[in-house]
Amino acid sequence: MVVGKSDTDTRRASRQLHRARRAAAPGSFTAEEWKAVRERYGAVCLRCKQAAPLTVDHVIPLSKGGTNDADNLQPLCLPCNVKKGTRTLDYRLAALAVL
Ligand SMILES: [Zn+2]
Repeated sequence: MVVGKSDTDTRRASRQLHRARRAAAPGSFTAEEWKAVRERYGAVCLRCKQAAPLTVDHVIPLSKGGTNDADNLQPLCLPCNVKKGTRTLDYRLAALAVL
């Protein structure tokens, strides 16, 4: 994967946007709730199944009216989270089906 300057800039802008939206989004989750969500799915990325550092992904993106509640969260590694972008993709059902 080629990571150029523009890609880095895009990600930085995306992170800042994310932070601003998070502050305004309804609902909230605690560190404990997020830990419970990760552990429910084996602490791996739900998309690629790698035990990579996991990021909080909102199943329904905050930009699409999703909430910060624990039932709207799924663990994805950063590359998968970036690939998902602002689409509404729920990887949780498929993940539980194979457990
Ligand atoms: Zn992944």
